[in-house]
Amino acid sequence: MKIAILAGDGIGPEIVAQAVRVLEALRSDGLKFELEPGLLGGCAVDATGEPFPEATRRLVSDADAVMLGAVGGPQYDTLPREQRPEQGLLSIRKTLNLFANLRPAVLYPELANASTLKPEVVMGLDILIVRELTGDIYFGEPRGIEQRRGQRVGYNTMIYSEAEIRRIAKVAFQAARKRNRRLCSVDKMNVLECTQLWRDVVTETAQDYPDVELSHMLVDNAAMQLVRNPRQFDVVVTGNMFGDILSDEASMLTGSIGMLPSASLDDRNKGLYEPIHGSAPDIAGKDAANPLATILSAAMMLRYTFDEEAGASRIESAVKKVLASGYRTQDIYEPGTKKVGTAAMGDAILANI
Ligand code: NAD
Repeated sequence: MKIAILAGDGIGPEIVAQAVRVLEALRSDGLKFELEPGLLGGCAVDATGEPFPEATRRLVSDADAVMLGAVGGPQYDTLPREQRPEQGLLSIRKTLNLFANLRPAVLYPELANASTLKPEVVMGLDILIVRELTGDIYFGEPRGIEQRRGQRVGYNTMIYSEAEIRRIAKVAFQAARKRNRRLCSVDKMNVLECTQLWRDVVTETAQDYPDVELSHMLVDNAAMQLVRNPRQFDVVVTGNMFGDILSDEASMLTGSIGMLPSASLDDRNKGLYEPIHGSAPDIAGKDAANPLATILSAAMMLRYTFDEEAGASRIESAVKKVLASGYRTQDIYEPGTKKVGTAAMGDAILANI
């Protein structure tokens, strides 16, 4: 197996270095893979003039998985749009045809105070949002703003084919099998035909997964239930636009942006793994960033691309133990706990692997 390592900008190199140490530790225990570094984002612009250079395109196309830190920084904000770091991110997702975005939101008991919700509402929270990433109203044609009868009108097209719905539904059912075997599909079938088809196809797909309990929920209710009683959910699957909104809502239930990993998969479980946060230029180079979201992204890589559940669980239990022992980076620090830097947090995880 080959893993492309794209550290990126800002805190990217610091946090990815810790995830690499964790992967190396598992390798010395018998997991077999090669790590190959590449450039993406601002660092790639600095070196080559492009945010997604040809060498990186080849590297990620050949790799089985990609580990990404984060890209971007204020020094790049004035570049022409095609040279901006974020363009590199969009291009890599498109090149690899990553249509399934998986975002877990897990609340560690020790961090319950970081949530803006009451501890009793979020305690024990462990949700996985599966969002379709390459279709829906964000990409549907026709789209535009035009003059009609003397005024401007704006329009977009919400569109999904049954093949697109079926492939994301399969990813969600398979993910549910790796968890508590409950899947909630979110749609707006009471007003949108496109999502009526969504519901029909997800229901048909369920026949292949009789061991997973399927339920359906309208998106307005889902938005409400996520803050009312989020623990009712195990895996949630939804389209691109609803997923965009619900996955941000779900991630904020935990209150700790430095703790949340993500995976984006293609139809053969090749994946791009990255923390959900950005490059945090305000703390870059200060050994202050929380590396846990990136380390947990490495755990997702083992689970979803390599099917190495044991390695994934070892990383996740190490994170739980380290938090229970009181280690905290500054973003999750509370009086009475031990404040550590990025590298020392990596040391603590390694000591528990
Ligand atoms: P950000 O996520 O980088 O930072 C928001 C806040 O959270 C900052 O105060 C930061 O210090 C803190 N933070 C983020 N990650 C942290 C961590 N691991 N440990 C401790 N604190 C952490 O968002 P932003 O400030 O809006 O964006 C900064 C840059 O990152 C921009 O150039 C933006 O375009 C880019 N960005 C990149 C990605 C990505 O690569 N996927 C995602 C979002 C933003």
